[in-house]
Amino acid sequence: MEIIIKKFGGSSVGSVDRIKKVARMIVSSKKKNQGLVVVVSAMGDTTDRLIDMAYKVNPYPDARELDMLLSTGEQVSISLLAMAILNLGNSVVSLTGPQVGIYTDKIHKRARIVEVKTTRIMKELHKNKIVIVAGFQGVNQNNDITTLGRGGSDTTAVALAAALNAKKCEIYTDVDGVYSGDPRMIENAYKLKEISYDEMLEMASLGAKVLHPRAVELAKQYNVKLEVKSSFSDERGTEVKGVDEMEGVLRVSGVTCDKKIAKIAILKVPDKPGVAYKVFNNLSKANIYVDMIIQSIRHDNVNDISFTVPEDDLDETIAIMEKTADELGAEGIVYDKHVAKVSIIGAGMGNKSRVAMKMFQALAEEGINIQMISTSEIKISCLIDLNSAEKAMKAIHNKFLVNGIEIVKKQSVV
Ligand code: ADP
Ligand code: ASP
Ligand code: MG
Repeated sequence: MEIIIKKFGGSSVGSVDRIKKVARMIVSSKKKNQGLVVVVSAMGDTTDRLIDMAYKVNPYPDARELDMLLSTGEQVSISLLAMAILNLGNSVVSLTGPQVGIYTDKIHKRARIVEVKTTRIMKELHKNKIVIVAGFQGVNQNNDITTLGRGGSDTTAVALAAALNAKKCEIYTDVDGVYSGDPRMIENAYKLKEISYDEMLEMASLGAKVLHPRAVELAKQYNVKLEVKSSFSDERGTEVKGVDEMEGVLRVSGVTCDKKIAKIAILKVPDKPGVAYKVFNNLSKANIYVDMIIQSIRHDNVNDISFTVPEDDLDETIAIMEKTADELGAEGIVYDKHVAKVSIIGAGMGNKSRVAMKMFQALAEEGINIQMISTSEIKISCLIDLNSAEKAMKAIHNKFLVNGIEIVKKQSVV
């Protein structure tokens, strides 16, 4: 049986009317002898509202209870969508993550899928039912519900595509593909016809929320055919694929901005071996994702170590760093939420110093100060003041992707 996975995000199922529209789309796309598995997110801003409520009853909500709460959002949409499809006369069944058998590790709020059982889904598909699966959730060894991190429904879809050996995984959202920058921020951003897994992974990890980073990682690992497209139109979207399958290679494919980031520094730690190890060992034990790291040397054999973490993990990081500062005899810690990370991504950046020079020039021309810099094979990121984020993105986009069109092969652009 040929299996297709379709995933609809929060805005695509944001109202009863939209759910009915998605139901019609699903029913009309259903072909004979084809297994259709649909993954849905919570309606509209449901997850945000649930988080809000949690913080209102407790400023430090328990991670297990938070997962219990957040998973309800997706349960609302799967049941409503199933009812809408039944109303159109098709057979369908809705399933939660635990009912499918989406097993994760034990980490609440950002669990990773470790196994996906296919028995229940296959049984339903063989009964010719459309299967609707709740995104973003799984179950751990203790039989507790876990969630996969914000935006995690994409990951559910790709994990199912890999486990079911699906022909294709289509991610339907409120934009019609992956753009050279967030189309809501950059008016002259253009749609990419295709993008490599590696570039997409960097873009996703650096703040382009159009795809969840873990979804891209899994798609690459299992070679899942992935397409991002609009749930409101029939237009062709953006294909995410291996570099070797691409028609043309983009040198610089996009700019991203991550505003949900915070900077934290531990001040005046002794300049001796093992100090950085101690700092990052404590963070890694707590599963905190650390990104840009800078060690700046002071006089008198002491250093400052600064790094960035996701804003959501700041409270936990502060607690860990205060303890670490005590243990190391450091002066203390400082932190700043008012920062943003702007990045430029491209599989073949070629001369890195030229790309870096142009990026720094774009920021300098706007009078924007760079607080931290980090690079990898296919990206350069700068940490700047939050207030300058949009100005910076536009300036960088203009420098590389509009005026600097010479570094983009035309056939890769739709
Ligand atoms: P969904 O609810 O369907 O999962 P998301 O809100 O998670 O949708 O992701 C879609 C949003 O991602 C778009 O509305 C867009 O503003 C944003 N976005 C950021 N960067 C990009 C980009 N480079 N290309 C397309 N969309 C982007
Ligand atoms: N509902 C979850 C969120 O808002 C998961 C998702 O939308 O992918 O983050
Ligand atoms: Mg999303």
